[in-house]
Amino acid sequence: MKDYIESLFQFIDGSPTCYQAVDRIGKRLAQAGYRELSEKEPWQIAAGERYYVKRNDSSLIAFSIPKQKETEALSKGFHIVAAHSDSPCFKLKEKPELTVEKQYLKWNVEKYGGMILSSWLDRPLSVAGRVVVKEQEKMVTKLVNIERDVAVIPNLAIHMNRDMNKGVEYNPQIDMQPCVGSIGDQGGYLKLLAEEAGVEERDILGQDIFLYNRDRCKRVGIEEEWICGPRLDDLECVYGALEALLLSESLSGDYINMLAVFDNEEVGSGTKQGADSTFLKDVLARIRSGLHIGEEHYQCMLADSFLISADNAHAVHPNHPEKADPENKPYLNEGIVIKFHGSQRYATDAYSAAVMKDICHQAQVPYQVYANRSDIIGGSTLGNILMAQVSVNTVDIGLPQLAMHSACETAGAKDIEYLIRALQAFYQR
Ligand code: ZN
Repeated sequence: MKDYIESLFQFIDGSPTCYQAVDRIGKRLAQAGYRELSEKEPWQIAAGERYYVKRNDSSLIAFSIPKQKETEALSKGFHIVAAHSDSPCFKLKEKPELTVEKQYLKWNVEKYGGMILSSWLDRPLSVAGRVVVKEQEKMVTKLVNIERDVAVIPNLAIHMNRDMNKGVEYNPQIDMQPCVGSIGDQGGYLKLLAEEAGVEERDILGQDIFLYNRDRCKRVGIEEEWICGPRLDDLECVYGALEALLLSESLSGDYINMLAVFDNEEVGSGTKQGADSTFLKDVLARIRSGLHIGEEHYQCMLADSFLISADNAHAVHPNHPEKADPENKPYLNEGIVIKFHGSQRYATDAYSAAVMKDICHQAQVPYQVYANRSDIIGGSTLGNILMAQVSVNTVDIGLPQLAMHSACETAGAKDIEYLIRALQAFYQR
């Protein structure tokens, strides 16, 4: 059987930002026979074919249309898995260079999402993302990834803050600015990007550049029972969903299989490519029009569709078990987590939970359940946000993990295979 862990590590290590993640997904899909569509051009789509489309180079939707059957002309509905491509990190400002005292050059950054600030201190960092250049009257995006340890955010010595271990409040503008060199390196930022992108500095007209943790993913534990690495939330689910889609190759099913990877979950999803945008709705509308599906049948298809929103979940913490619900609490390596929320920040309900449990039974993988302690607000995710645009039966799931939104997170080594098997069973239902 395939070593999913090594393959997951390659995917995460090679995806320092959402742009590289979406690029990798696109390349994997293309290798597997999926054809890329552009939102700017008319779509010619047909039964028995596979496609994918990107938006903003940071979100992607893939879909495969079953072969036409003689008895039934049309698909019954959509089987969709959604996950997110972004993770909390720091974004470089448009003019990032700052000098301090007579020696240091720093890069001016601001927060992207809600990260554990202290986890970014005292470790090698670098930058990646995209630049936009003008080529023959067209704006062209180029991905950049400086694969060197170019930055560090040093802690203050304990001698300068004796209360350090009683908890520190970090100010992002003061405490979290990465140091990248000496004053003599000034002007080096654009040069670095231009060299990496293979363009002239003056040609760079736009940039979305983020700081990333240079640590690579590793196995940890006496029996190597855990995995540690950056961006497990949510690249672990993105990877699992992609593998599952590619494994469920048959086009003889009754449903159109879809994988939807959205950017900007960590900042509220409210962008043109986020889960709160019309991206999924627009793609569904174009599939509908491409396959000449009438309004009445399309509404029946939506009612018969199912969406799995896959975003990691909190496992019981070894040092703080009291933070978990007394009973509805998942553990690492014990299977897929089905998430519930009284106020519906998770979209799971009795029906969708039942379907998900049935999928897990069918795939012979374990599942567990999660609810917040009743006095903890908890986070939100993709499921209920997507429902505003496209309303279908939805379950919120995830893989159990620790230290969510740390620069280095921990998860169970067994759980990724459980996710792949369950999602494969879903796509083949
Ligand atoms: Zn997440």
